[in-house]
Amino acid sequence: MQINYDSLKADLHLHTFYSDGKLSPEELIQRAKLSGLDALSITDHDSVEGVEEAMHYGRINDIEIIPGVELSSEYKGQEVHVLGYFMDYKEPRFLHYLASFREKRLKRAEKMVERLNSMNIKITIDDVLSKARGNAAIGRPHIAFALMAANVVSNYNEAFFKYLGDNKTAYVKKPNISTAEAVKLISDTGGLSFVAHPGKTIRDNLIIELIEQGVDGIEIIHPSHTRDDIAYFLDITGQYFLLESGGSDFHGGRMNDDLIFGNYYIPVSKVNAMKNRLFSN
Ligand code: AMP
Ligand code: FE
Ligand code: FE
Ligand code: ZN
Repeated sequence: MQINYDSLKADLHLHTFYSDGKLSPEELIQRAKLSGLDALSITDHDSVEGVEEAMHYGRINDIEIIPGVELSSEYKGQEVHVLGYFMDYKEPRFLHYLASFREKRLKRAEKMVERLNSMNIKITIDDVLSKARGNAAIGRPHIAFALMAANVVSNYNEAFFKYLGDNKTAYVKKPNISTAEAVKLISDTGGLSFVAHPGKTIRDNLIIELIEQGVDGIEIIHPSHTRDDIAYFLDITGQYFLLESGGSDFHGGRMNDDLIFGNYYIPVSKVNAMKNRLFSN
């Protein structure tokens, strides 16, 4: 039987409780099965801890799992998320880098808690850690959930608006690597890298400069992208012979999550294009 890869759905941007998502890889895969998705990539922030588990449950549920990660990086002072696919997720140097960055994320969360304390908001780092699994990449979302639990804010967005958003009172920057370094980490372990959700902020010269850092593609489909964004970035991928990615950026436990899951995907034929670029030489 001929398989029509254009009609099969791949969501290549998903978070689990190994970073700031709510679900386990198994729960995510079961949900994906119900939503009619055929291929997935778990792209936790600065972690591949969920990949092996996802591979296991993917085999059981007949869903293809593409090893993935979402690396935090920085270009000219702006935070750039780099999605990596098909890396060797067991490569020791790569794992060592991720573990050391998660350590830095933890220290940064401690600093953010100190800032909150200095504003007389009495939450502790343990309150924050209670919102995450051991070994998870600790981020601002965990602090937001701790602030909600302590009734300091009444919802998730308020936590960012008042305290945690970029340059707000409790914000502390992460010590990000450069985008070129993130791309190299991914290519050194045999993977492909993509600029995540460029949207309104990474356009014009900036997206071209990032392409010059060696990314292999751009995330085209994302809940934050308008039709115009999609057309704009498709045009660029066409001009520069880049690959296209996309997905829901589902975390679980947030507003709109139920609307996005299963509705933001790319055809599996685009995943095949990635494999062709990697494995055809
Ligand atoms: P971190 O990597 O710890 O800096 O946390 C970044 C994550 O926090 C992003 O991936 C978003 O999920 C979330 N985030 C950042 N800014 C906002 C915001 N203004 N409102 C809601 N969520 C945000
Ligand atoms: Fe996130
Ligand atoms: Fe992101
Ligand atoms: Zn994400």
